[in-house]
Amino acid sequence: MLAYLLDLPDHPLIIFLTLSVGGVALFFLLAGLSYLYFFVLRKGRFHPGYEADPAENRSAIKWSIIGIVGNAVLIAPIHYYVATGHSQIYYSVADMGWGYLILSVIMMFVLTETCIYWIHRALHHRLLYNPLHRIHHQYQKPTSFVGLAFNPFDSFLQGLPHHISAFLFPLNIWVYLVSLSVVYVWAVMIHDRVSFVRWGLVNNTGRHTLHHWYYDYNYGQYTTIWDRLCGTHKSPFEGCEEVPEGVLRTAWLAEESSAAGTPVEAGT
Ligand SMILES: [Zn+2]
Ligand SMILES: [Zn+2]
Repeated sequence: MLAYLLDLPDHPLIIFLTLSVGGVALFFLLAGLSYLYFFVLRKGRFHPGYEADPAENRSAIKWSIIGIVGNAVLIAPIHYYVATGHSQIYYSVADMGWGYLILSVIMMFVLTETCIYWIHRALHHRLLYNPLHRIHHQYQKPTSFVGLAFNPFDSFLQGLPHHISAFLFPLNIWVYLVSLSVVYVWAVMIHDRVSFVRWGLVNNTGRHTLHHWYYDYNYGQYTTIWDRLCGTHKSPFEGCEEVPEGVLRTAWLAEESSAAGTPVEAGT
């Protein structure tokens, strides 16, 4: 699909190379800029007690590359099927109208929110956790480099609902591509340990930081709806006394504390 947009031949190998090379380049751009900003240039404001662990960063970068390239192998056939007209992807908004386009975005959102919550819950089952999901959870205090550090089968399973949508109902090409891009950016954003939104319905960075800290809260994708329905929601704004100071940061508190010149990120 990406190969199609770049006017490259619809060959599985070309699709794989586009996904893997483009994916790794995008990872270094997004995670590199995020790490540079939050953990280096503005460390004093956002993570004043953070001490870089080069071995952990190298490990996270290694698993991100393995995850992205491995994932490209797994999703290249899906993109090939999409690119060769075997899905319900359509190219012109006029084909279905704006009303349907909005409806399809809602349907895709509901489907991915539901499936990703339950797939993530399943990945925490002991049968799947050790062989697949443990790789991502080895980083208890994540950084931007952890956002895509996955066993490829783990990231494939969590990304699958986005691809399945394209086969279940008509989906505009741009809805499909934008949703995949947003997931990519979101994955990096929720690992920088700085929350920018306070809304209770958003599965923000603080909530995902708690997912890494406690393991059994906040499994959702973008929202806390399924976590709230299933009793697995935990707010980063109350009752997190066991979490060392500095691990959970918010943009607004970082502003206040950097003015006061305080906090320190305690060790684990
Ligand atoms: Zn998890
Ligand atoms: Zn994570």
